[in-house]
Amino acid sequence: PQRVGKAGRRAVDMGEETRITNPDRVVFEGAGYTKRDVAEYYRAVADWLLPELAGRPLSLLRCPDGTKGQCFFQKHHAESLGDDVRSIVLKQKSGREPYIYVDDIEGVIDLVQMNTIEFHPWGARVEDPERPDRMVFDLDPGEGTGWPDVVRAARDLRDHLRKTGLDSFVRLSGGKGVHVVVPIGKGPDWDDVRAFCGGFAEAMAAQSPTRYVATMSKAKRPGRIFIDWLRNARGATSVASWSLRARRGAPVAVPIRWEELGRVDGPAAFDLAAARRRAARLRKDPWEGFAGLEQALPRLE
Ligand code: ATP
Ligand code: MN
Ligand code: MN
Repeated sequence: PQRVGKAGRRAVDMGEETRITNPDRVVFEGAGYTKRDVAEYYRAVADWLLPELAGRPLSLLRCPDGTKGQCFFQKHHAESLGDDVRSIVLKQKSGREPYIYVDDIEGVIDLVQMNTIEFHPWGARVEDPERPDRMVFDLDPGEGTGWPDVVRAARDLRDHLRKTGLDSFVRLSGGKGVHVVVPIGKGPDWDDVRAFCGGFAEAMAAQSPTRYVATMSKAKRPGRIFIDWLRNARGATSVASWSLRARRGAPVAVPIRWEELGRVDGPAAFDLAAARRRAARLRKDPWEGFAGLEQALPRLE
């Protein structure tokens, strides 16, 4: 069905209700992907993307002039984002503010129409924004470290987590590093999660100071990997699995099995086309068991 946009202008209908203006505009120079390609990508991976994205407050990275132009983060809702984009009012220091969320692919497509490239959800859901349901350790490699160091750090982190009784899952960021994600059960609030993640990262850095840093001020130490645990604060985000990145070559943040980590070329191993193929071929969720794994926060010794 044709839809008429707010401006009364008829948007291009691409069949499955994808309404996109300027579909042929190149968004990823070099790779040559257009706004239509971006919309079709998100529609193609929707079944994998939505469980990660739907029902969570979101920050968007929007690039109105393509990924080579000025991009900006947006966290506040506006009516102009589209009819299928939802809003949730959250209390902030500055007062009550409307945040963005979507609950279906039409909402995602509305945001693509507004030139969103990247989707960055909270680690909590709109039904219970004060109770995170996951923790994210973002491994940021410093200068002079390579992919093998990142792989080793991720496995090391996984092993340490396992020793405290926590199972974890790994995602290529589509940028320079990986994210190690830990689902938790309801109970802990943001302060609890922050304290645990900070303590955990600091303990790892204290144990292996030549390999890791856990404080922002030392994050750029050459030869070390920054265990960025600051994604675990209220209002902080990390990129969603299956989100495109507004970077050269149209890389995607891709969830993988731990067994795959040693076999991929690097954190940006999947571009738009490769991620789309992967989504189409996947038989099993690479994060099988993630949903419904309600782990308790262990006590740090
Ligand atoms: P990389 O592997 O290259 O580090 P990344 O997605 O982990 O990719 P980071 O710079 O480490 O990128 O940032 C981690 C997360 O912090 C991002 O995924 C994003 O959700 C959030 N973030 C970073 N910069 C901003 C910003 N300016 N505004 C809002 N959120 C941001
Ligand atoms: Mn990172
Ligand atoms: Mn980071």
